[in-house]
Amino acid sequence: MLFRELAEYYDRLEAVSSRLKMIDIMTELLKGAQKDEVANIIYMTQGVLAPPFEGVEFGVAEKMMEEAIAVATGYSKEDAYRDYKRQGDMGLTAQSLCGASKLKRMNAKKNMVNEVYRIMLSVAKTSGAGSKEAKIRMLANLLASGTPLEAKYMARYPMGQLRLGLGDSTILEALSKAGAGDRGFKAELERAYNLCSDLGLLGERLFDGGPKAIEGFRITLFKPIRPALAERLPTAEGILERMRGRCAVEQKYDGFRCQVHKDGGKVKLYSRRLEETTGMFPDIIRAVKDEVRADKIIFEGEALAFNEATNEFFPFQETIQRKRKHGIEQKVEEMPLHLFAFDMMYLDGEDYISKPYEKRREALEHVLRGSKLILPSTMIITSSPKEFEKFFTDSVADGLEGIVAKDLAAPYVAGARKFSWIKMKRSYRGELSDTLDLVIVGYFLGRGSRAEFQFGGLLCAVYNSTKDVFETISKIGTGFTEAQMKEFRQMLDKIKVKSKPPRVDAVMEPDFWVYPKYVVTVKADEITKSPTHTCGKERAPDGAEVGYALRFPRIVGEGTVRSDKSAEEATTTNEVIELFKQQKKVGVED
Ligand code: AMP
Repeated sequence: MLFRELAEYYDRLEAVSSRLKMIDIMTELLKGAQKDEVANIIYMTQGVLAPPFEGVEFGVAEKMMEEAIAVATGYSKEDAYRDYKRQGDMGLTAQSLCGASKLKRMNAKKNMVNEVYRIMLSVAKTSGAGSKEAKIRMLANLLASGTPLEAKYMARYPMGQLRLGLGDSTILEALSKAGAGDRGFKAELERAYNLCSDLGLLGERLFDGGPKAIEGFRITLFKPIRPALAERLPTAEGILERMRGRCAVEQKYDGFRCQVHKDGGKVKLYSRRLEETTGMFPDIIRAVKDEVRADKIIFEGEALAFNEATNEFFPFQETIQRKRKHGIEQKVEEMPLHLFAFDMMYLDGEDYISKPYEKRREALEHVLRGSKLILPSTMIITSSPKEFEKFFTDSVADGLEGIVAKDLAAPYVAGARKFSWIKMKRSYRGELSDTLDLVIVGYFLGRGSRAEFQFGGLLCAVYNSTKDVFETISKIGTGFTEAQMKEFRQMLDKIKVKSKPPRVDAVMEPDFWVYPKYVVTVKADEITKSPTHTCGKERAPDGAEVGYALRFPRIVGEGTVRSDKSAEEATTTNEVIELFKQQKKVGVED
């Protein structure tokens, strides 16, 4: 496929807001691709060069792109900078300057999709002395070789600003239609996706081997499994009832989730967002090699700092100091970590994901016998609410967050939030003091004293995982520090879009819409019903649509955004509905 054709598809995708239309366009695009182009087209459409766990980054700053556009068009760097400031979109700047360029287009040629991908990959892989100039040269040649429309997407792609609005779920549905004839194959594709987190790979397998290749898809070492997530309930009785009277209750540790992959002497770690974190935890890597009695294994646990002298867990704020790029070994000394292992998905050639919890746990304890740094999470199996409650209170007294209850008969539910895991945290007993993770979809300009920061608050949304859209739940207008206001403004300016992004459902209009990307943690006093927000909206008896909103919302934490969560990992609409019900139960007025 020609890159020009791909750019035309992207332009069509950008112009539609209905998810069904997006699926149709994406299906047509995939159908038009050659077998050996499918994976690259999928990565490009996701705005990446490889699945996130491979950590391939473009390393192209705004200034570099401005310079590349200047070299390609004969305009000055300052012209490119001014145009970018005016339009706020590097793609539009590239498109208009390439369109207006008087330079004789010596390099003009028909770019194939795979060729553009290959050059982009070289741009990303060029590092070290002189790399900046080399990257600019490669990008400039590429920009000069295409049509203005191609230039638009050639410039946006390495800036991480493709803005097509396609979520994983949309791509999976299009893959199902293009590769298996209809959307009926999506569930099977989703199953395989949950096992490897690599949409490009799936596309390639599907187009190469047909649906059979996906049906036979198995767990692969060093392809991270999409993590299981926990639902929440506020009482021991409620949880036991959901678990048919008996369940496992494990301590809930607040640290870094680590998915460990080991094949002989090769060990890698992946975060909850499936990014590789091997380099961050050399002590855990050593412990996996020394202590885990298995040749090939995939298991999961939570790493957190533990004070051996006082026998106490460090709070997350301290554990987070281990998240760093430099001085790692020194921190290893100061703040040793323990890994509390809580699940196992694969062992020596055997798939454990579909085995019941009890079997997985038994095998996990077996491979960890005698280990010191890697310990199985503390756990009881109970049918007594009293015993459950005591385990919870003791865990909280030990400085932990709470517990996670596990269904003894359930498989490991990769990539989904199901009632096979239910968390109960110390904070949501009584009032709504649990936090929500919200996606920023827009921002407001400041008035009065905030005018100088030109920042007046955020429009935030939850993720409706059934509809694959973001539904607004709150405008957060207060509680920002000056530093936060500045930082938000800078971050959000880079991802602002001209109109409401396709997968955002909103009634309220912010001054600027932004591409749903950043997640913030928010605390509120309670959840109320409101016609201004679309989260979980339903038609009230009087015909008006009413959704859920937050009362007195404010951002928590010192920093701004949660780098460990993607937009789709925000709190879901269903969770909000569940929290609303729980809040009613404990007597908060509606
Ligand atoms: P939350 O982040 O509040 O949704 O809680 C779920 C997270 O708790 C998981 O992603 C894990 O990182 C963490 N966690 C801590 N201890 C456990 C445990 N024993 N079982 C499962 N998850 C746990």
